[in-house]
Amino acid sequence: MNVILLGPPGAGKGTQAEGIVKEFGLVHISTGDMLRAAVKNQTEMGLKAQEYMTAGALVPDEVVIGIVRDRIAEPDVADKGFLLDGFPRTVNQAEELDKVLSSMDKSIDAVINIVVADEELLSRLTGRRICKSCQKPYHVMFKPPKADGVCDDCGGELYQRADDTVETVKNRLDVYHNQTAPLIGYYKNQGVLVDIDGTKTVGEVFTDIENALKAKV
Ligand SMILES: [Zn+2]
Repeated sequence: MNVILLGPPGAGKGTQAEGIVKEFGLVHISTGDMLRAAVKNQTEMGLKAQEYMTAGALVPDEVVIGIVRDRIAEPDVADKGFLLDGFPRTVNQAEELDKVLSSMDKSIDAVINIVVADEELLSRLTGRRICKSCQKPYHVMFKPPKADGVCDDCGGELYQRADDTVETVKNRLDVYHNQTAPLIGYYKNQGVLVDIDGTKTVGEVFTDIENALKAKV
């Protein structure tokens, strides 16, 4: 089974990805992790990617697709199938991925799309606080410290990352929607898209994903 996982920042994609690969024995292909690994191992693609990253530029599609293609061609993926996370992000990438897959006689079986309204994502993401001293994460609503603004473990001061302010989060969500809306349409047309309500508890969301994937097997 080959699966793509989509979801906005704050939708709990990372936690669900862990559960899915464990339950279905899939190989987790995270493009962020792979880019870092390719650069670290100085592979041909890694060296190309590094040139762009050093220059502060976005790594172009052909390089990312090359890295994904190399990974998909490895024997463990052929045996188990994959869960793609963080890729594709655009319709162009999705089309290129389809070409790569069909050249290997493979295809996408399901695209899990975790749906959470922006308002909810805003309160999830802007509520995050981190301890300045020990980096322990808190949340003003879901995991508040015992004393306001103070770390339970070390007494350190809690702060909000620049990434988590209302303005930045709104901007990140806009970027996500602009990029992903056409992608969602693309997979809907292929009949592989499954919308999952991401406002339920982590366990409930996982059960819904599990049932959706079992229906595809
Ligand atoms: Zn602390």
